[in-house]
Amino acid sequence: MLQNKIVDLFVKNFSDTYKVYPASIKEKNDNVFFLVKDNQKKYLVIAAPPSKQRQLGFNPEKEKEIEDSSQDGLLFKICPLTHDNLKQLKVIFNYLRPSIAGNMASFGTGDRLGIATPAHIAAFQGKNIFPVLAQLSTREITRTESSLQKVMDNAIWGCFEGGYEGPFGADADHIKDFDNLQEAINCGFTLYTIDPSDHINKDIFYNSPGEIKNLYQSHQKRRFFEKVYLDKKYKIGNKDFYFDENSLAEIFLTYGKAVDFVEKCYKYLTEHNKDDFELEFSIDETDNSTSPLAHLWIVLELQRRGVSLNNLAPHFIGDWEKGVEYIGDVNKFKVEFKLHCLIAANMGGYKLSLHSGSDKFSVYPTFARETGNFFHIKTAGTSWLEAVKVVALCHPDLYREIHEFALTCFDKDRFSYHLSTDINNIPDIDKLSDMELGSLFANNNARQLIHITYGSILKEKDEKGQYKFRERIFKTLFDNEKTHYEKVSQHIKHHLDLLII
Ligand SMILES: [Zn+2]
Repeated sequence: MLQNKIVDLFVKNFSDTYKVYPASIKEKNDNVFFLVKDNQKKYLVIAAPPSKQRQLGFNPEKEKEIEDSSQDGLLFKICPLTHDNLKQLKVIFNYLRPSIAGNMASFGTGDRLGIATPAHIAAFQGKNIFPVLAQLSTREITRTESSLQKVMDNAIWGCFEGGYEGPFGADADHIKDFDNLQEAINCGFTLYTIDPSDHINKDIFYNSPGEIKNLYQSHQKRRFFEKVYLDKKYKIGNKDFYFDENSLAEIFLTYGKAVDFVEKCYKYLTEHNKDDFELEFSIDETDNSTSPLAHLWIVLELQRRGVSLNNLAPHFIGDWEKGVEYIGDVNKFKVEFKLHCLIAANMGGYKLSLHSGSDKFSVYPTFARETGNFFHIKTAGTSWLEAVKVVALCHPDLYREIHEFALTCFDKDRFSYHLSTDINNIPDIDKLSDMELGSLFANNNARQLIHITYGSILKEKDEKGQYKFRERIFKTLFDNEKTHYEKVSQHIKHHLDLLII
């Protein structure tokens, strides 16, 4: 085959400088495409005899020509992994475009560093779960100094590197405003996770019944909602649900404006996005859990307004702290979760979505079983934690610096999370040998320390304006890529294994 011959010649001539990713090798119209790395960066190589070079839209960094006695020589274009080069590549290999998950169970693998997609793809092999490979929340994008476009491009380059030709999704996660929404549309995202938390009235949870009553009675839409929802029985499956004045007041005062916001986003999407898309409504980042009755009201209200919902992410009962196991009574979770499933299955059949999926192994089997394998789960920090674990294994001195620094920013960074972390329970790393550093990742307090300080770690600069850790983290993972991929892949596979029922 042409591709084998060409790659063999490339290796013979340039293996001192470049290492080929074998899974990436593809052939189209007498041109061969593959990914390589030198000791600093990765490149796309396009190879063909000069007379057959048809790929004019690519911008190479260098070109290399070699003699080939049987042909008219070979030209290798060595192209940087830029957005423009990727655009050309997507025209040639159109499977490098995200799509919607539809009826498949789906799982999002947030990739904070933007280099883990090949490892994620490997974890999905043989599983009947739709991978959402581009997924980062607005908060993570800010903290990692990334962008929606970079999140998308990194995932697609990762697909190409891993030779993946299957479908995958792209989730613009926790979108809170229309600028972000438009940006996500421009980048071609397929799942839009709308986060209306700025429009949720969180005070209601803390208000007294008297205060709620006063607010309710003076609300201009009160009569309207009473007419729609009171004195009715909602038979959902084998269960009856009712709204009384108190529950209706509490629910619509809490979520009314959030539903307005999602409705506006949905209308915006239908007007401005010409491609297929899916919509998720996420209310997981609230102080209190979402009751099944509130879930029902939200969905009834969205349906009344013509909003078509694909996923709903309630705040399920219990504590969903970042990067650690579920904190709460799994049986209690199960009882209430069944009601959420009943509503979701009978109210139009949308997926229930679980955020902070890392590493809630104890609830995964219930989540898969009760939803009848119709679910969406998101993880993000878990791949970051595996990456830092690799730093601890391969470059212990760097890990020690990161750890000491993380301890100094924990109080500031914990602010946006609900956490029970006690950093006093993290072992003193000066007393741990290099070999023992990896064990820190089995300690919940140490996990959460690294999980939530990622933005500070990645952004910190020294007095000369140089990144203090960021580039050394990337370089360590680049140099130890095999270990990095193996660790991330094994860890995500462990998640996915628990989701097969
Ligand atoms: Zn979330």
